[in-house]
Amino acid sequence: MRNTAESCDVAIIGAGPAGLFAVFECGMLDIGCQLFDALPAPGGQCSALYPEKPIYDIPGHPRIDAAELVDRLLDQAAPFAPVFHLGHAVAALTATADGYVVENAAGRRVAARAVVIAAGAGAFGPNRPPLPGIAAFEEESVFYLVRRREDFRGRRIVIAGGGDAAVDWALALADIAERVSLVHRRGKFRAAPQSTARLERLAADGRIELVVPYQLHGLEGDGGRLSAVIVADPAGQTRRLAADCLLPFFGLASDLGPLAAWGLDLDHSRIRVDPATCATSRRGIFAIGDVAAYPGKLKLILTGFAEAALAAHAIHPLVHPGHALHFEYSTTKGVPGGVPGR
Ligand SMILES: Cc1cc2nc3c(=O)[nH]c(=O)nc-3n(C[C@H](O)[C@H](O)[C@H](O)COP(=O)(O)OP(=O)(O)OC[C@H]3O[C@@H](n4cnc5c(N)ncnc54)[C@H](O)[C@@H]3O)c2cc1C
Repeated sequence: MRNTAESCDVAIIGAGPAGLFAVFECGMLDIGCQLFDALPAPGGQCSALYPEKPIYDIPGHPRIDAAELVDRLLDQAAPFAPVFHLGHAVAALTATADGYVVENAAGRRVAARAVVIAAGAGAFGPNRPPLPGIAAFEEESVFYLVRRREDFRGRRIVIAGGGDAAVDWALALADIAERVSLVHRRGKFRAAPQSTARLERLAADGRIELVVPYQLHGLEGDGGRLSAVIVADPAGQTRRLAADCLLPFFGLASDLGPLAAWGLDLDHSRIRVDPATCATSRRGIFAIGDVAAYPGKLKLILTGFAEAALAAHAIHPLVHPGHALHFEYSTTKGVPGGVPGR
């Protein structure tokens, strides 16, 4: 296993759930990994977008909060001593005689035999509503994600959007906020049926105000502190919603950024892979998780986990040429040093 300051067996771009599990799968095959992420902490969407939300479709965990899943993935990867380079996006990839050099925006360069791109939706950012002066309110009273539900206790919250994120956060904040108003340009929400049913019940009880069909129109406030959100109906009639904070949930802008210029075969903003190996169109570069595209792909955490295993097995001959890979279960092989906390 190679893992020094300047070089490693595999450089993983993206420390979301897929990238983190790839450390474990590679480690089990004696392949050392270093992870790069633009975000300051590992966990990808789970940490950045919904740390306190429960996930119900992780096999073996009937319910697990996203932040806890990330902690467990970190525990699972720990025996293989991954090196993290966080807080700076990967900016460049250069081919070498025996692999690649990955370089981040801070100038950190690491040579690797193979590269696993686990970049999710790319170096992601929220779709911002086009409201004049919104930048002055961001991170003070306008938030594109909820890091801690408690931060919103007793506040007057306007949530905008019609999808799962908007509906789920309206439901999750209804019992701690002073008031929750949910603004959507249509009367119908695009959320899971059970969430929509709960939303309707809470609206009927007066615990959530449904402001439909309305769109965001403007913001009022001073020095970054919001006092009201102005909304407009399709005829242009405006309404003023007194508010302390606005949570716009209009999805994520996916931008592969520099990755899109690396000569990989792309499918819109995702990377086409061979579903049997997760190999991309360039030798030694693999893609897993949300960023990987093939027919029938399901963008789920569990899919990314399976792809991490496929990629690790396909990488083995590149890192250990001439060594036959004998498939072994983890029960037979065990984990070096055991699992932390057990
Ligand atoms: C609100 C919400 C609820 C969800 N609920 C579920 C659920 O219940 N079950 C489920 O299976 N899935 C759920 N998902 C989807 C799930 O979170 C994703 O499928 C999963 O996070 C994808 O993992 P990933 O590792 O492929 O990518 P991500 O988690 O997107 O991580 C990718 C990482 O790559 C980094 N990155 C990108 N480009 C670069 C670059 N150039 N340089 C450095 N770093 C880079 C990003 O910063 C990011 O940290 C949900 C998503 C959301 C938003």
